Amino acid sequence: MLGDAGEPDPPQASAARAAVDEHGATSEAADARKQGAVSPGQEGNHAPHFVAPLSYLRPLSRGQQQQPPSGGSDSRPGTRHKPMTPYDREQREGLRAIRAFLKVRTSYDVLPLSYRLIVFDTSLLVKKSLNILLQCGIVSAPLWDSKTSTFAGLLTVSDYINLIQYYWQNPDALGQIDQFKLNSLREIERAIGVNTIETVSIHPLRPLYEACTRMLQARARRIPLVDVDDETQREMVVSLVTQYRILKFVSVNVKETAMLRKPLRELKIGTYDDLATAHMETPVMDVIHQLVKRNISCVPILDKDGTLLNVFEAVDVIVLIKGSDYEKLNLSAGKALELRSDDFPGIYTCTVNDRLDTIFDTIRRSRVHRLVIIDEAKQLKGVLSLSDILEYALNSPLGDEDEQ
Ligand code: AMP
Repeated sequence: MLGDAGEPDPPQASAARAAVDEHGATSEAADARKQGAVSPGQEGNHAPHFVAPLSYLRPLSRGQQQQPPSGGSDSRPGTRHKPMTPYDREQREGLRAIRAFLKVRTSYDVLPLSYRLIVFDTSLLVKKSLNILLQCGIVSAPLWDSKTSTFAGLLTVSDYINLIQYYWQNPDALGQIDQFKLNSLREIERAIGVNTIETVSIHPLRPLYEACTRMLQARARRIPLVDVDDETQREMVVSLVTQYRILKFVSVNVKETAMLRKPLRELKIGTYDDLATAHMETPVMDVIHQLVKRNISCVPILDKDGTLLNVFEAVDVIVLIKGSDYEKLNLSAGKALELRSDDFPGIYTCTVNDRLDTIFDTIRRSRVHRLVIIDEAKQLKGVLSLSDILEYALNSPLGDEDEQ
């Protein structure tokens, strides 16, 4: 182990910065709870905090109808044939500003002056790596092969989930699993036919735009920054940046995000169909299988009427296998969620009437990783992930020829 990789806040973002790692407790989380906590008062004693900050900023006016995202005309710039309205133009200017900003800023710009970086040597035991993640309150770490002195990919929650899958298929191999080192994870992943450790990386001086593009292409939610040491010509892991960090950097620095005033129902960003969901009673292993099969980072937990009760997140598996105690994998999703730490920041929700300007505002103020889209009766409508926002910000047509 060489040193640290928590997720530093962008320097410009210090006023709104969160205190700890991306899934750790934050003072903002406490603020959010004060501001928007609505206890669902349902199932089990683990009632999550529901945070719908956007509704507080801009309550629905009377008579404003909830519309399914598929309703209404497609007014995304470039996808309609009608002439552009001032409203369309404003949205387009907002997107242009974000793209221009991401093209002139680099990943170095996102890093604060001082930060920690935790890197795991590939000869570390998997179970020890898990303890270190838990102790440090982080959810990923770059890997280093000290035999070849090279960067060896990024260890993420997905790798622990893959290990769980392996255990589930080979329960008799528990003793062997306990002795697995990080460098054996790739073989395990190949053996069960799943995606192997992420190897995508980027030089910290490349434009942020490129870092975003690489993450979207690789479906990675974070990307390690790898430089080459001038003297030794060896690779050097500098830090890593996440989709959240970049979007927060944008929200702090690009004032034109205020121009993104179209509601989600018009933009149609996010996923609304064929959602992976579960119930409190669903075995947690079934939920984990869904995470893997669909390559998603969350599964909303609903009651029998489709009301949102909670969200099982990929990071929730870490506590389930803490101390190599795989027994907890026999729990139901509801019971598994009760193991979450008390400082869980809550579930962020929005409606199809919310707009990207307020969503960026929420990202600036809170450590949001996704927003669950619900209606006024808390019925699940969709999921808006940071990757959906990034995809829209980078790749949606601008509706004119000189869009880039
Ligand atoms: P994420 O894994 O959160 O980065 O999301 C990757 C993609 O999967 C995004 O387009 C999300 O909208 C979508 N997604 C996230 N969660 C779910 C879910 N439970 N069911 C279906 N799609 C989802």
